[in-house]
Amino acid sequence: MDFETTFIAQVITVIGFAVGLSIVVASGRYPRHIRESLRAYSYGKFLVGSAFLIAGLRAGQMPELLIPLANGMGLAGLTMNYTSVRHLQRRPAWPFGPAVVGVTVGLSCLLLLLADGGIAWVRILVSFATSAVLLFIAFAVLVRYEGRGIPHYVTGLLCTALALVYLVRMAAGLAQEAPPATYMLDDRVERVTFLLTLLGTVVGAINYVLMASDEFNRELAKLAHTDGLTGALNRRRLFELGEVEFRRARRHDRDLTFLVLDIDRFKSINDCAGHPFGDRVIQAVVDCCAGQLRREDALGRIGGEEFAILLPETGVEAGRLLAERLRGTIERQLVQLGAEGGVTVTCSIGGVSLTKEHSEFSDLVAQSDSALYDAKHAGRNQVRFFSETLQVEALPA
Ligand code: GH3
Ligand code: MG
Ligand code: MG
Repeated sequence: MDFETTFIAQVITVIGFAVGLSIVVASGRYPRHIRESLRAYSYGKFLVGSAFLIAGLRAGQMPELLIPLANGMGLAGLTMNYTSVRHLQRRPAWPFGPAVVGVTVGLSCLLLLLADGGIAWVRILVSFATSAVLLFIAFAVLVRYEGRGIPHYVTGLLCTALALVYLVRMAAGLAQEAPPATYMLDDRVERVTFLLTLLGTVVGAINYVLMASDEFNRELAKLAHTDGLTGALNRRRLFELGEVEFRRARRHDRDLTFLVLDIDRFKSINDCAGHPFGDRVIQAVVDCCAGQLRREDALGRIGGEEFAILLPETGVEAGRLLAERLRGTIERQLVQLGAEGGVTVTCSIGGVSLTKEHSEFSDLVAQSDSALYDAKHAGRNQVRFFSETLQVEALPA
């Protein structure tokens, strides 16, 4: 196979436009951050496709205009790939980044052409800039990405490999005599670089779509697992995790504590201050709890104003301390919000820690519920653990 660079450039154009068009048409059905990423990727492909169109059809015409234009557009398009990865990861992306890179590269190319007349330095500069952007993309998908999968590794390795190819092209530019700017370069290095760019465009697009689909699946899983009002886990997910943690703790003889938290006299909060205010109280209680928990703990909304907290590697003493801290924090931190609605916000907590007697996760649920019932009966705004419940029940009447 020995294709001319102009031919390869035209194929890259066709593929770039086809990929860009397909992705932009499909992007409408996705959640916002994925849609933004898909669109940035498509626009990037249109720019790269246009850059190679100009390069492939230039036929030596107007080099001072078309060479800076093609290279500026190509680099802006490639930078949009970086932007699209940032969107996919929900990281901020500077909206003018691609334009700034494109204009800077375009103007630099113009200056080099005017100063030198040949395109060796243009080739060196553009190869360097291309390698740098590709390495940024590789870093973003290989190092910065949470929840990486196979498409992320393939994309990262592909970008790194292409960055090396462009570094070789840069070295070739440094080693050779300055060629004239009239026609597109067609030496061996240029052909191999273009062929690998073509391959990278195809494999990169497939893997980018797989990355976006991974992200979409993660988003769906998140929606299926979380409660819309508070962002805490929903009942089903919390209980699923509870089963898993219960089995793990039993098998390895580890500590596990389960808490149930219920807002006190919530009906009267709703009655006094209205349902929307009640919703704000529910959200504020979740924020208070989330601020006190470790990464490995799980907080779920298991009823209207009832929450469950799963505390792995936590024994009865530590569990009791944490429950007391949660109760106190809610009481203190929600004074101001309560005053706004003319109510007092407190909560009662029932807890239980795993012992040899427990054979099912549902035992923990039932016993923490019974401890919560005791806390309510003892006057609310307090913590009760199931062992205490037994003692209370064991006392003679
Ligand atoms: P107790 O101290 O015994 O827990 O008294 P309570 O009034 O809190 O009693 P209960 O737990 O039975 O009250 C639950 C109330 O929570 C009833 C329901 O109207 C209200 N509720 C349930 N879900 C929501 C919600 O999403 N938003 C709001 N604002 N209220 C809710
Ligand atoms: Mg309640
Ligand atoms: Mg309740």
